[in-house]
Amino acid sequence: MSDLKVLVAGAGLGGLTLARSLRDHNVDVAVFERDASPWDRPQGYRLHLDTDALCAAREVLPADLHAVFEATAQYTEPFTTILGTDLSVVKRLPAQDEHGGAVWPAHDGPGSHANVDRATLRQILFAGLEDTVRFGKTLDHYESDSDGVTAHFTDGSRAHGDVLVGADGVRSAVRRLRAPHSETVDAGITAFYGRLPRATAETVVPAETMTDIFTIASDERKVFLGLGCVRFPTSPAEAAARLAPGVPMRDQDDYVVCIVGGRHEFFPDTDGAPRARSGEELRHLAAEALRDWPTGAAGLVRGADPASFFLVRMYTSVPTSLDAPTNVTLLGDAVHAMTPTLGRGANVAMRDGALLGRALGKVADGQLALPEALAAYERDMLAYGFSVVRAAARVGHRRMGQNPLPE
Ligand SMILES: Cc1cc2nc3c(=O)[nH]c(=O)nc-3n(C[C@H](O)[C@H](O)[C@H](O)COP(=O)(O)OP(=O)(O)OC[C@H]3O[C@@H](n4cnc5c(N)ncnc54)[C@H](O)[C@@H]3O)c2cc1C
Repeated sequence: MSDLKVLVAGAGLGGLTLARSLRDHNVDVAVFERDASPWDRPQGYRLHLDTDALCAAREVLPADLHAVFEATAQYTEPFTTILGTDLSVVKRLPAQDEHGGAVWPAHDGPGSHANVDRATLRQILFAGLEDTVRFGKTLDHYESDSDGVTAHFTDGSRAHGDVLVGADGVRSAVRRLRAPHSETVDAGITAFYGRLPRATAETVVPAETMTDIFTIASDERKVFLGLGCVRFPTSPAEAAARLAPGVPMRDQDDYVVCIVGGRHEFFPDTDGAPRARSGEELRHLAAEALRDWPTGAAGLVRGADPASFFLVRMYTSVPTSLDAPTNVTLLGDAVHAMTPTLGRGANVAMRDGALLGRALGKVADGQLALPEALAAYERDMLAYGFSVVRAAARVGHRRMGQNPLPE
């Protein structure tokens, strides 16, 4: 183990990717997570992964866990299906591959787009890090000095390290101090998320919905219905039992995620305390938004599991710069949160985690000085991260009426 000690706030997809990479580089790492356990908070269902996340997973996972990842990922056709409001196929748009191919070693993977289950991916990334992640630890603030950085937690405890990484998501406490000038703004969009069994969806939607990355239909108000299939080639529990015995894995059945959304003004009843509403009420509001569409769409939403519904108000970061590097840096949504229109936020967060892990590995080996390593990481991360934020805002504006980014 090297002398470098890295503190990470947040055990989301980016923070866990970083922690795995640092462990591979023999760097001492401690992760502090606000949630009480890995299963504390439902955070959504399906995730679209592209080359960035697929390569980051290949880079940071040991062979047995990567085999579980591959066995539970649905590699998709590289298209988004556009439907009419009657759910007939209008066209299939080829996926834009905007990832930074140059940063990843070439490989013969089975494809460059996959749909995976978020909780399964998080479990795979977390496996083996039980001693590294401390749950129930909410970072409140930090203090830097010549000797490193001290993280202060809301329970009064503290931890000291050489570097602190804010991987603490869209409302990052680390960003508030590291980049007080940065802004995260309301994108103007409300969305309802739910899920239905694959077999139920299959009888209603065109076959392309089950094999393409994502499917979307919208009306003249830009109120939309999005659908994304998650099919496990091997069920998560069976994959873990066969390929990585001893790794605890919650089982899941195949499903289709359905998302209904549009500008806030179409959902005036959802302001205030969205979590206070029952899943049944949220499902009702989602189906009502499609009431002027031919009956198939609202019927599909009504067939979803009411307990699965939750509501999201979408936010985006506003592209900015960071002051000169210190011993505190940021990754993922903590710095470049984006609307989910391109399905790229997790990809960029995992890319950040893998690249920052590589950079800090070089510091631990004595190949790079810390300021130099963080400056190079931040320069690259801000360039690719904010270019995706801008692209997501452009597509979000066109497809769902997202607010344009402030100048
Ligand atoms: C509904 C929805 C669908 C999406 N679909 C896709 C998709 O298909 N593909 C894709 O690439 N992206 C998608 N995204 C975006 C993706 O989820 C995020 O970009 C990704 O989770 C960011 O990872 P992260 O590690 O930066 O942050 P997070 O995953 O949000 O993790 C942050 C962690 O920090 C913890 N935390 C917060 N504050 C503190 C604190 N003060 N102290 C300690 N811990 C703290 C949180 O509890 C959390 O565990 C979607 C987003 C949403 C909302």
